[in-house]
Amino acid sequence: MSGVGSVGEIVTIAAASVPELWRVADPREATRRIGQIRALATARNAVLLAHNYQLPEVQEAADFVGDSLGLSLEAQKTGADVIVFCGVHFMAESAKILNPGKTVLLPNLSAGCALADSITPESLLKWKERYPGYLVVTYINSSAEVKALSDICCTSANAVSVIRSLPTDRILFTPDRNLGRWVARQVPEKDIVIYDGACPTHDVLRDASVERVKSGHPGAVVIAHPECREDVLQMADEVCSTSGMVQAVQRHPEARTFIVATEWALIHQLKKRFPDREFIPADGCIGCRLHCPYMKMITLDTVRRALLENVFEITVDAEDAALARRALERMMAVPRDR
Ligand code: SF4
Repeated sequence: MSGVGSVGEIVTIAAASVPELWRVADPREATRRIGQIRALATARNAVLLAHNYQLPEVQEAADFVGDSLGLSLEAQKTGADVIVFCGVHFMAESAKILNPGKTVLLPNLSAGCALADSITPESLLKWKERYPGYLVVTYINSSAEVKALSDICCTSANAVSVIRSLPTDRILFTPDRNLGRWVARQVPEKDIVIYDGACPTHDVLRDASVERVKSGHPGAVVIAHPECREDVLQMADEVCSTSGMVQAVQRHPEARTFIVATEWALIHQLKKRFPDREFIPADGCIGCRLHCPYMKMITLDTVRRALLENVFEITVDAEDAALARRALERMMAVPRDR
C-alpha cells in the first residue's frame, strides 16, 4: 500500500514506464487537480482506493494503492463515509458488499472486467449441477451474483491458501483458467475442475515475447501474474499478485533488472519503491498488449466528478450482498499465500 505522492514523482520516476499516450501532459496541472481531489475527499470524509493498474496520476491521488485483496481489507476497515473506488466494477461492488452502510462510488460505470463477464449466475448454476458435492471457489474478479452462488472467494494473492483451507478435495474453480491451472499445480492432492474464462490483458502474452525481451536482458528476473498463460508462468522466476510483486523484488536483492508480466501501470509502484532497479514490460511493447482498457477509464477528471456529483453510486441487491459477503469474509480470514 502507498499513500499520496506528488506529480513530480510521476514524471521523474515513472515517465519511462508509461506509454506516451498516457503520460501526464502538464505535471503542474495534474498537481493542481490532485490537490483539488484531496480537498474534496477531506470535505466529504472520503477515502480513495486505487488498484495497482490505475493510471499513475490516479495512483498518486489515492489514499491507498494495492491489489484486490489489500483494497478489500482497506475497504473493510475504513472509517470514511464515502469510498471512491479507482478500479473496476467488481471491486467497487465488493467494497459495497463489505460496507453496506457506506457510499461507494465508481468514477466511471463503464469500467467493467472481461474476465468477470465470462461467468454468469446461469452458467455457474449449470456447471455446479454437473459436479454435485463440489465446493465453488470464485476469484474476486466476478459479479456479486456469482459470488453469492459461491462457497468462498479468493484473489491471486491467496488462492493457494484458500484451496488448502477447504475441508474437501473436490473443488470447482472459476472463472480464470490460467490462475486455476497454476493453483492446481500447487495443490495436486485436490481434484480441481477449472472454468474456461480468461483475462484478455494477460492471456494475450506468449512465452516467445518474454523470451525475446529476456534475450536482451540476460540475468533479469521474470515476475509474472498468475492470470498469464501456462507457457509464461513456466518460465517465470516468481509468480504472484500485483502487490506480491513488491515482495518478489525484495527477494532478489542481487538483481538489477526485472521483466514484469502484468498490466503496465504496476511498474509505477515498482519504480517508486525501487528507483535503483530497472523494470521492463514482458511484452516488449509497453501499452500495446499488457494494457487493461477498463482500468484506464478512471482518470483524475472522473475521480473529481465522482466526489463533486456523488457518481456513480454502487448498489447491490440485499440478498446477493448477504451471500456474497459470506464468501468474501471467508476469503479474508485466509492469509496471503506468502
Ligand atoms: S486486467 Fe483483466 S482481470 Fe483485471 S480488470 Fe482488466 S480485464 Fe479484468
